[in-house]
Amino acid sequence: MVGHVDHGKTTLVRALSGVWTDQHSEEIKRGISIRLGYADATFRKCPNCPAPEAYTVEKTCPGCGSPSEVLRTVSFVDSPGHETLMATMLSGAAIMDGAVLIIAASEPCPQPQTKEHLMALDITGIDRIVIVQNKIDLVSKERLIEHYNEIKKFVKGTVAENAPIVPISAQQNVNVDMVIEAIEETIPTPVRDLEKPPLLKIARSFDVNRPGTPPEKIVGGVIGGTLTQGVLQPDDPIEIKPGRSVESEGRKQWVPIDTKVTALMAGGGPQEEATPGGLIGVGTQLDPALTKSDLLVGQVAGEPGTLPPVWNSFTMKIRLLERVVGATDEADVEPIHTSEPLMLNVGTATTVGVVSSAREGGMVEVQLRRPVCAAAGDRVAVSRRVGARWRLIGVGTINK
Ligand code: GDP
Ligand code: MG
Repeated sequence: MVGHVDHGKTTLVRALSGVWTDQHSEEIKRGISIRLGYADATFRKCPNCPAPEAYTVEKTCPGCGSPSEVLRTVSFVDSPGHETLMATMLSGAAIMDGAVLIIAASEPCPQPQTKEHLMALDITGIDRIVIVQNKIDLVSKERLIEHYNEIKKFVKGTVAENAPIVPISAQQNVNVDMVIEAIEETIPTPVRDLEKPPLLKIARSFDVNRPGTPPEKIVGGVIGGTLTQGVLQPDDPIEIKPGRSVESEGRKQWVPIDTKVTALMAGGGPQEEATPGGLIGVGTQLDPALTKSDLLVGQVAGEPGTLPPVWNSFTMKIRLLERVVGATDEADVEPIHTSEPLMLNVGTATTVGVVSSAREGGMVEVQLRRPVCAAAGDRVAVSRRVGARWRLIGVGTINK
């Protein structure tokens, strides 16, 4: 779920899943989704009613009262729409199979983060998109049509050019059935490889123990994320990379962490097995001090010995955008120059890379402040500091 701040992302996730994703106290205070909140929704269909009324999240059809049939369970990542939180949005994009771009009809389109989020989808390769025109209860029919035309003009020539546009009121629960229908039709479940070794992109990590828990009752650290391939089961040994940083003889080094899966959770319940798709929680034997407060976000977990390499520096081929988006005053993107710092999003990881060489043809070498575990060929979202903010300026591909 992506889109500009206050356009209704959290409200729509709630309408679809019954879960309020803004659960952090700080978030509630500031009224924005800071961390990637996530929620599972089970889509259902009434066997008797016509579409779109047949689509629901209720166990009994609100139209005719007969039991509805389960279609599938979908995990929503509720991205923050605040402009300072693009890194969080980008690390969320790394685990999305598709996106719902929500655009409030109560403001002219596009707003800065509407633009920036669409650009981010483009850059991270997410092309299965449903556009939701929200807050239709706040505007006249004439304005709604005008706003629809603004959306059409805005998405022309982008990955969302042919995306369906569904007019809704998330707050009044109007046309939410049509959103489900559009997601079912536009964002099919991708085919996953269950034969390959399990690979988990870490998007959250926690310490689930309450303060004051006696030592014998303390449970191990929990990591949350999505499996991109393979199957994970309790008791499986796992390796986490880059791991943790240790100092020896005055030098900082990253060493992989080895642990074991103790429990798997999805949709609020324990699981005997986890497969790709959807967000899962993985209980481990780790000291919760290692997993608290999202410390492991951006790392990769999987079968020991099978993870991609860890890079302290890499060369990437960069394609720059023509203009800097997301700011009110947009400027041309200047070429990349040596020794400038860039914010890089690789998978769920965010790191800063200092440019050690920038050659003709977009080949750029960066020295990373924090190493990343990634495969050659992986995409990198590249941002540059413009004024006080990191702005998305291009996309790179890691070279061998
Ligand atoms: P987010 O920042 O995109 O997550 O936006 P929220 O879901 O937090 O919504 C921002 C505000 O808009 C809240 O006060 C919502 O109650 C309100 N809102 C969301 N959807 C609608 C809608 O369809 N109609 C109206 N009138 N208000 C809405
Ligand atoms: Mg929100």
